[in-house]
Amino acid sequence: MKTLNTDVLIMGSGLAGLTAANTALDAGAEVIVVEKRPFQGGGVSNTPMQTLVVRDDPAYQNRAFKIHMDYTNWNANPHVVRSWLKNTVRIPAFVRSLGIEFLNIKYNPLEELGTTRGYEVGFPNAFHIGDYYRLKWIGKGHGAAIICKKAADRIREKGGRILFHTTLTKLIKTEDRITGAFGKDVRTGEEMEIRAKAVVIATGGFNDNKEMVEKYCGLHLTNKNCDDGGNVVFNHFTGSRLTGDGQRLVWEAGGAKGAMGCNGHAMVPGPGIVGDHCAWVVYNELRTMQEQAYLWVNKYGQRFICEEQSDNHMAMVTAVNNQPGKCGYMIFDQDTAEHMEKEGVERAYFIFEGNRLHNVKKQFEEVIAKGNKHVFLADTLEELCEMSGIEYEGLKDQIDRYNGYCEKRYDEELAKDPLYLRPVKRGPFYAFRVFPGGYHAFGGIKINGKCQVLNEEQRAIKGLYSGGDCCAGEVFGNPPIGGIGWSTLSFAQGFICGDEAAAYAKSFE
Ligand SMILES: Cc1cc2nc3c(=O)[nH]c(=O)nc-3n(C[C@H](O)[C@H](O)[C@H](O)COP(=O)(O)OP(=O)(O)OC[C@H]3O[C@@H](n4cnc5c(N)ncnc54)[C@H](O)[C@@H]3O)c2cc1C
Repeated sequence: MKTLNTDVLIMGSGLAGLTAANTALDAGAEVIVVEKRPFQGGGVSNTPMQTLVVRDDPAYQNRAFKIHMDYTNWNANPHVVRSWLKNTVRIPAFVRSLGIEFLNIKYNPLEELGTTRGYEVGFPNAFHIGDYYRLKWIGKGHGAAIICKKAADRIREKGGRILFHTTLTKLIKTEDRITGAFGKDVRTGEEMEIRAKAVVIATGGFNDNKEMVEKYCGLHLTNKNCDDGGNVVFNHFTGSRLTGDGQRLVWEAGGAKGAMGCNGHAMVPGPGIVGDHCAWVVYNELRTMQEQAYLWVNKYGQRFICEEQSDNHMAMVTAVNNQPGKCGYMIFDQDTAEHMEKEGVERAYFIFEGNRLHNVKKQFEEVIAKGNKHVFLADTLEELCEMSGIEYEGLKDQIDRYNGYCEKRYDEELAKDPLYLRPVKRGPFYAFRVFPGGYHAFGGIKINGKCQVLNEEQRAIKGLYSGGDCCAGEVFGNPPIGGIGWSTLSFAQGFICGDEAAAYAKSFE
């Protein structure tokens, strides 16, 4: 069996692993990164368009920390949250050190933090806790792919090694500490032993492991049509191969199970809407319509959330998942269709610009003609109900009341801002069915503020560190939906893992 030696062994070459490797090399440690795929960059890290940095200023740090902890109802580990936020300040210098300049930076004033949608749109207000650093992109790729490429080049320049097509199969424990791992080449099956003073697990989430998603997030994945029994459309890139390997390795070595969750993103499934290779890509403006705070009902025709939340994807996905049949419907009439075309929608979808929609009726007809079973257009509400499965009596009763709120400009039921109170009166009537969805499953490894992996007794396992999506549950407590794995965390915990693992390795000198 081949034997390799290093100070720090890192499993996974996404943002967290590559940041950790660069940081450990800068601290003078020898580094080996193993990556099971033939390239660096992770299953998801070619996607981020912007990352979040909390300013190196006590007022900003404290406010961001408290907003985030309040959001988790103090369920998250406060030390993990604090060290994450503190280390975000290192992100801009790290990215620039790779020769990459940001496209632009949106500085957010202190008093605005926590008051508007996180990442500007799509996320809970509690995620709006810092400044947004937007990454440049080239061609079809997004900025983080370039960061990963340059970070990998820099690892090699500094004498580090990256072994592609390589996985770890078992952590080696000597007395009370981790001293390396057994691994293998996934193409040839050739086995190896990698002796290391410290091991960092940075293997991302577990999107491609249906059993883990069911077991730990309670979400029943389905296909893009939602017609195979499940109800959750997972709009991750196909073939991410993120299967929770790092989590299992850590658990087998005595690591405790940490919180696991799923980034929520509700969707209208089916042909004509969802992209073939990545459901994140949508082919028409139905996704923009879905952001609007008009009338939303469940299959009994009853409202179930103040529709202002329709651009808070996590709140929406949880609410939809809690409804009978685990789905929700958005309904509007011809007047609202014309409003969206002529005056424009109140909210743009955060990937696509523009607020005046184009021929709403034609877009519906096209999607229906493609065989989509979740999009409906009818001359009367009775027909709409027949097509969609919404209970007519319930809907009629709800719409009568709802139209009354629109007239009075006062939503006595769910307190919606009158800006979004648009009656449903004039046919044709439009509806689409939305299912819960997610775009990646995260967490599972329990760590402390130094990114040391914890055992069942909540004590650090010596020599074992972890960061990024595989630990992201630790900053949210225990929500199946309502948390997120994001680049800001992967960068920050990459720095911490690199610092701590290198320092620990050097303590043996
Ligand atoms: C569609 C989408 C859009 C997103 N947009 C944004 C955004 O705009 N802003 C933002 O901040 N975040 C965004 N994110 C989240 C962000 O991309 C991730 O949180 C981040 O990239 C995760 O980095 P990571 O290094 O922790 O994990 P990953 O990037 O998943 O890396 C894990 C690596 O480990 C490797 N690995 C797994 N198993 C093994 C094994 N057995 N052996 C060896 N290697 C293994 C994987 O192949 C992978 O390379 C988005 C995510 C998605 C899916």
